Amino acid sequence: MDGQQFSAFIVEKIDPGISTGAEEKKLGIKGSSTRTVILENCRIPKDRLLGEIGKGHKIAFGILNIGRFKLGVGSQGGMKRVLEYSIRYTTERQQFGKAINSFGMIQQKLADMATKIFVCEALNFRTVGYIDEALQRTSWDSPTAGADKMAAIDEYTIECSISKVWASEALFFVADEAVQSYGGYGFSAEYPPEKALRDCRINRIFEGTNEINRLLIAGTLLKRAMKGDLPLMQFGQQVAKEISNPVRADSFTGPLARLKHGVELSKRQCMLAAGLAVQVLGQKLVDNQEVMARMSNMLMEIYAMESAVVRAERMVESGHRWAAIARDMTELYVNESWHKVHGDARMLCADVVEGEALRHALAGVKAFAEFHPTSSARLRGRIASELIQKGTYPIEVF
Ligand SMILES: Cc1cc2nc3c(=O)[nH]c(=O)nc-3n(C[C@H](O)[C@H](O)[C@H](O)COP(=O)(O)OP(=O)(O)OC[C@H]3O[C@@H](n4cnc5c(N)ncnc54)[C@H](O)[C@@H]3O)c2cc1C
Repeated sequence: MDGQQFSAFIVEKIDPGISTGAEEKKLGIKGSSTRTVILENCRIPKDRLLGEIGKGHKIAFGILNIGRFKLGVGSQGGMKRVLEYSIRYTTERQQFGKAINSFGMIQQKLADMATKIFVCEALNFRTVGYIDEALQRTSWDSPTAGADKMAAIDEYTIECSISKVWASEALFFVADEAVQSYGGYGFSAEYPPEKALRDCRINRIFEGTNEINRLLIAGTLLKRAMKGDLPLMQFGQQVAKEISNPVRADSFTGPLARLKHGVELSKRQCMLAAGLAVQVLGQKLVDNQEVMARMSNMLMEIYAMESAVVRAERMVESGHRWAAIARDMTELYVNESWHKVHGDARMLCADVVEGEALRHALAGVKAFAEFHPTSSARLRGRIASELIQKGTYPIEVF
């Protein structure tokens, strides 16, 4: 309406004024038809209005939330398939008289692929759990059922975007490592990794590009914090007080206590750096895209680490048959991801202050850096031997 208000309509392919452009020739997903939808002098009767006049954007954004989450889950499934044939190929392919998956750097690839799958499942299960719970608080019997359900899903906009960005990048990493594991055959269309790499590339583009989703993750969080919907200000004050007496490892209990401590330290580093950005840039922060992207990267890693730690700890506590590998994958992930957050926190500080103020900010981040990694090489070796023995990603979910 007037180019300002948007309304949603149900439109049929046979409606007057609707046509489609030519079939597009694409890099991947060639089995899927892609054509532009052209609306020219298209008149749709009033009774096909979806929802309320001027509220169409709500429907569009609601659909995007679920679309993004589904893309995250789809990427998770894709990774499993790629890992499966990568294990098989690297077991069959011999070089220097041995299966190539007896070499450390190929084992590293397999272990990293499986770890991405475990973490992806953990963060997706967590997000869908939140959405399910929120939906259960609504009822189809209510006259406002549609709007209530959309509002329930909207609460998890940030998590849906994290799922989309994190999983699409994880799948691209996995597909790329599969190409590398196949060597020259990885580049050949006769072998499956070439198609996987082409097909999964679109996941970083559609349902809102990963750049747009990164802006949404940090932007939505900031908006909610400003409105007082999230207790971030209080957390910021707590972190500032803790600098002289940072949270200690022995404050945590449970089989994964050390990793929980690592995650909590990451949260504090992120809070310090993001808080500094808010303080220095104020309203201009949202226009500083590189800072916003770093904030989103930290938030995604923290969500991913925390989800994996909670999942693995439950598996260990319940005596799950795959608890040992789950624990190893989580430890590997936290080892590597913790340093990403630490690096991003430091670099974010350098993006917003200089000189003495930067020295002071980096000292704050360092106060929360008492986390020592374990050997990722040893963990990867153990994870890879389980994968090779089982021939697939071992943890059945259903
Ligand atoms: C195979 C395929 C299927 C599709 N299916 C559908 C569909 O079913 N329904 C549908 O509605 N759409 C569909 N799309 C469209 C798709 O969602 C868009 O292509 C996508 O959202 C990116 O928009 P764009 O192409 O206009 O890129 P642009 O907006 O032109 O972006 C180009 C680059 O600039 C970056 N950029 C743009 N704006 C900003 C900004 N503000 N800040 C920082 N960076 C920015 C982007 O991240 C990207 O890297 C499909 C696309 C493809 C390729």
